[in-house]
Amino acid sequence: VTGSGRAVLGIDVGGTTFTVVLLAADGEVTAAAEEPMPIGLAPTAALKTVTATARTLLATANLLPRELVAIGLAVPGSVDVARGVLRSAPNLPGWRDVPVAAIAADALEAPVAVDHDVRMAAVGESRLGAGRGVASFVCMTIGTGIGAALVLDGRPYRGASDAAGEIGHVPVATDTTAMELCGCGRRGCLETVASGRAVAERVRRLARAGAATSAPALAGGDVDAISARHVFAAAAAGDAVCARVVEDAVTALTAGVTVLVNVLNPEVVAIGGGVSAAGAALLDRLRAGVRAAAWSPAVDVVRIVPAALGTRAGAIGAALHAAEHGGRRTC
Ligand SMILES: [Zn+2]
Repeated sequence: VTGSGRAVLGIDVGGTTFTVVLLAADGEVTAAAEEPMPIGLAPTAALKTVTATARTLLATANLLPRELVAIGLAVPGSVDVARGVLRSAPNLPGWRDVPVAAIAADALEAPVAVDHDVRMAAVGESRLGAGRGVASFVCMTIGTGIGAALVLDGRPYRGASDAAGEIGHVPVATDTTAMELCGCGRRGCLETVASGRAVAERVRRLARAGAATSAPALAGGDVDAISARHVFAAAAAGDAVCARVVEDAVTALTAGVTVLVNVLNPEVVAIGGGVSAAGAALLDRLRAGVRAAAWSPAVDVVRIVPAALGTRAGAIGAALHAAEHGGRRTC
């Protein structure tokens, strides 16, 4: 359809799903696909499934990978951006020192720029979403895991080893919250109290122990099927067990966002990810908590808003960032 040679492709690989988007030169999404991540495949085979979906998407637009301006690939976990290697990813078990850029480039027969998923979501939001026109911008994702990324003067901030923004692994747990083992190997991380996975798992454990909660009923009677969505719905309907778990999550998130606000003094903090889809109520409580806890000069200017691009943010950001760097590996 486009055939203009100005299109860019973005791919976002996650622990449960992967997303592929095709963008026109003006940033408009012209085609997109979101599919479950293949379970139980080795990284190379899994990436081949992902790139096959990308090729199908391109074929429907009458494009070949080499006709694109750039291809960007966003991955979770610890990423060596310059080498295009995924060092490790707690939400992708078995992926260790995987040369994801080389594998994807080989399958697509075109160069692929690799970067961190939350950082690319932040770039997407800063170009086309909640951080548009904002000089100091933080994008926080609360989903299966919790992460944050910073865009300063339009540029993603990486830190000394591409590890900046890992707010999900800040210790926040107290006696009242479980000191769960985190995917990072430590205990008490924000992610173990407030991620979607953690919220659901805490209620599953309480339900198995006999706590009086309506969450199993919402999950069709199957305790194992309880998701964060069920927990938020039950809490909103007055379920005390779920309300307590949500309260712990909000308290922990408030601590995490307060750190971001006090240390970075951002103009906007955008909140995205599956848990943020729990809606306005969660965001309102988070805003009130941060307003009460954070340093006045910083909290007086910050706007805490929902992210605008949804589950496509990472893929969109990866595509735009790759295009801005001419499709080369970025530095
Ligand atoms: Zn951790």
